[in-house]
Amino acid sequence: MRESIESGKSVSNAGTLYVVATPIGNLEDMTPRAVRVLSEVDLIAAEDTRHSGKLLKHFGIDTKTEAIHEHNERSQVPRLIEILKAGKSIAFITDAGTPLVSDPGFHLVRSARQAGLTVIPVPGACAAIAALSAAGLPSDRFVFEGFPPPKSAARRAAYEKLCEESRTLIFYESPHRILESLKEMTEIFGPEREAVLARELTKQFETVRNGTLTELSEWVNRDPHQQLGEFVILIHGVPRVEREAVDGEAERVLKILLDELPVSQAAALAARITGLKKNRLYEYALSLKGGGK
Ligand code: SAM
Repeated sequence: MRESIESGKSVSNAGTLYVVATPIGNLEDMTPRAVRVLSEVDLIAAEDTRHSGKLLKHFGIDTKTEAIHEHNERSQVPRLIEILKAGKSIAFITDAGTPLVSDPGFHLVRSARQAGLTVIPVPGACAAIAALSAAGLPSDRFVFEGFPPPKSAARRAAYEKLCEESRTLIFYESPHRILESLKEMTEIFGPEREAVLARELTKQFETVRNGTLTELSEWVNRDPHQQLGEFVILIHGVPRVEREAVDGEAERVLKILLDELPVSQAAALAARITGLKKNRLYEYALSLKGGGK
């Protein structure tokens, strides 16, 4: 690799590991720096060499590639570290977006850092951040949850644990599970919870839609086109004022009702008795049931 690539960064004879973001759909999101780094390194370690081959060809990059994916990452890391130690530079890319964000690369980067090697990020597209930037939900604090568990029971349990979270929640979801997942979210986070569905970002059928969870899940249910492609789901956190609104008396009423009734009925009755919002009491009741309180 040319000495000039990142002037001042090359302090030893060892090569550098570059973690390079690639587009999540729109090739115009490839940064000039990413193109330059990928052209200049000695080796590109790619999640899927065939998939990335198209991207590299488009940008006229003919650097040698090797496959590093979730199934061989651990076994390949020692060899890649040796290549770096021998003074060669490597760029790591995944199929789309920022490596390590719901993508392979963690073992490689961790091992490189543990070996004292230089690791340089080359930032670019990331679906979670792109969705957050356009969602209009509070973005000062957020929680990235990645993909929810594939099995319904585990997924529901994961949502229940997040029910009281005050920060904006960000999930990735696959097209096979988008409808089921939205229905479960409606049930668990509450039908009125504000959310945003960001689909096919940067692509031809990009859609960023906001609404309550009920509205979004009914909309996706009605229109099969909305069940295709790639998705980010963002959910408004529980506002802090509302979180504090369930006082000792409301909690006492709710607990008594929960001993006798299902959650939704207990929440509805508690709302009538205390004057608090049913949705809030429902969420609180779920957290009580989940042993969180
Ligand atoms: N590393 C990638 C990133 O930086 O966003 C994420 C890789 S993960 C394997 C793929 C998931 O990211 C998809 O299933 C989807 O949830 C989300 N995703 C990727 N591209 C997207 C897009 N263009 N629009 C919406 N979501 C996208």
